[in-house]
Amino acid sequence: MGNPKAFLTVPRQSAGYRPIHERIADFGEVEQTLNTGDRKLQASRCMDCGVPFCHWACPLGNRPPEFQDALFKGHWREAYQILTATNDFPEFTGRICPALCEKSCVLKLAIDAPVTIREDECAVIESAFREGWVQPQTYPRLGKKVGVVGSGPAGLSAAASLNRLGYDVTVFEKEEQVGGLLRYGIPNFKLQKTVIDRRLRVMEAEGIRFVTSSPIDPKKLPEGFDAWCLCTGTPTPRNLDIPGRELSGIHFALDYLSQQNKVLAGKEFKDKERITAHGKHVLVIGGGDTGSDCIGTANRQGAASVMQIEIMPKPPVGCNPQTPWPAFPRVFKTTSSHEEGCERRWNLASLRFIGTKDGKVHGVEVETVEWEPAADGGRPKMKPTGKKETLQADLVLLAMGFLKPEHPGLPENVVVAGDALSGPSLVVRCIADGRRAAEDIHRMLSEK
Ligand SMILES: Cc1cc2nc3c(=O)[nH]c(=O)nc-3n(C[C@H](O)[C@H](O)[C@H](O)COP(=O)(O)OP(=O)(O)OC[C@H]3O[C@@H](n4cnc5c(N)ncnc54)[C@H](O)[C@@H]3O)c2cc1C
Ligand code: SF4
Repeated sequence: MGNPKAFLTVPRQSAGYRPIHERIADFGEVEQTLNTGDRKLQASRCMDCGVPFCHWACPLGNRPPEFQDALFKGHWREAYQILTATNDFPEFTGRICPALCEKSCVLKLAIDAPVTIREDECAVIESAFREGWVQPQTYPRLGKKVGVVGSGPAGLSAAASLNRLGYDVTVFEKEEQVGGLLRYGIPNFKLQKTVIDRRLRVMEAEGIRFVTSSPIDPKKLPEGFDAWCLCTGTPTPRNLDIPGRELSGIHFALDYLSQQNKVLAGKEFKDKERITAHGKHVLVIGGGDTGSDCIGTANRQGAASVMQIEIMPKPPVGCNPQTPWPAFPRVFKTTSSHEEGCERRWNLASLRFIGTKDGKVHGVEVETVEWEPAADGGRPKMKPTGKKETLQADLVLLAMGFLKPEHPGLPENVVVAGDALSGPSLVVRCIADGRRAAEDIHRMLSEK
């Protein structure tokens, strides 16, 4: 701990977002960066707590106090080494992790101003790339082959760990490009795809093979591999099966988001296939982060209006007694996309889609609902109120989550990881799970 009193004198300073009028005109990353001096000052605020709850909260077991200390002292390379001992991809988590660590920081509890751990993490890895410290490594080979199905954060993390352990790794991906939801879900304004490409170049130089446009049937795995890691994510979005669902203009959020990412990567779509919010009244059904990404995308495409509705009540603002510190707080959240313009409403159940004569959606009938707490403390019970209204919408985006997949009857040498195992989750959890899966495969093959 470099400066034991910094937390008393240095206020928290986030780099913040680019101004709204500027950022909604492009798909570049919205987050800015601090200069080196301010970044070191932010790192100095870490109190090096006896029990580092940040470390406990991070699914990867990152060691924030150690790398904050190195950063404060200007030992950037040491900070990079500490960080990458636990995290293979700090450039992803440094940009898009919801920073579970910061919610558990003692300065969050004390003054609601945690150490800027996530941004510091991003600054450290960016300096490492800039300085040329991120170089391909060579590891002793074991002469065994492992196949990884799916190239999202779980697959990439499993591949990196298995390669480090000495296995010859081939990653099979059904899409044209590697990255999973990092590439085809998360919008560019949160994560530029060049960040993924930069990491892939290092992984390929380390000997990991990527085979794209190659869907693999888990029931008919190719011969010649000692083990497999299945990281196929959560392919099935939750549907809203209400009258009018067949109308045109109603899309799953991921179809919409992935198409926009593909367009930005240079892919062309015919007019009739293109899903765009330009000039439209957009209704996003689902109040979570995927919905928020749809809002940011719709505003950049030039939507006439954007509304996000959610069936559940508005979460508590500030703190939630049901999720006390150091747990991750389930509280009202305003993202950069919300700031860019949208109306948000809660307690609305969708009853039916309303269409024009030529089969296009132009509204959704909704009903206000109330929620009664369950006597046993379980899921609250929904009570319709009879108060109905029609919301105007000529583009409806369904962002209600994904179904947890099942994997019956897999052979013994197959280990499942990431969202494919847990259901919809977070990038940081998937990176952690990819590491766990690699260890499991290593143990299994070593015992053999
Ligand atoms: C829109 C959106 C925004 C998100 N934003 C964030 C965020 O900001 N921060 C955060 O932490 N988390 C976020 N998440 C969640 C996060 O992206 C996921 O939890 C994570 O990407 C899951 O990683 P994964 O590797 O398990 O699966 P995925 O990323 O889904 O990757 C699975 C891969 O497997 C491939 N695949 C599937 N079946 C086959 C097959 N048979 N053969 C070959 N390949 C196959 C798929 O094409 C895909 O590339 C977001 C999710 C969405 C949908
Ligand atoms: S990966 Fe996420 S939770 Fe872990 S230290 Fe980084 S920002 Fe915090």
